Amino acid sequence: MAQYKYGDYLHHSDHSAYDTRHAPGSPAGNAGIYRCVSCGDEIGIAKGHTLPPQNHHQHAPGVGKIESQLLVFAQQK
Ligand SMILES: [Zn+2]
Repeated sequence: MAQYKYGDYLHHSDHSAYDTRHAPGSPAGNAGIYRCVSCGDEIGIAKGHTLPPQNHHQHAPGVGKIESQLLVFAQQK
């Protein structure tokens, strides 16, 4: 689970970007932290980069498929 210390620097948002499920190896539309919806594995992705390929982490049988959801969006000025 992602952690933070200073909550004043985080802003809650209901933006639809947080609802999209991304397949392995697909472009990350936003820089930030992405979380696998099936196992909870998290990874930071830089702007313009792609999400890790299918072989980045493996699921045991029955865990579900690897899909990443935006957890925290890094806002640039
Ligand atoms: Zn996973």
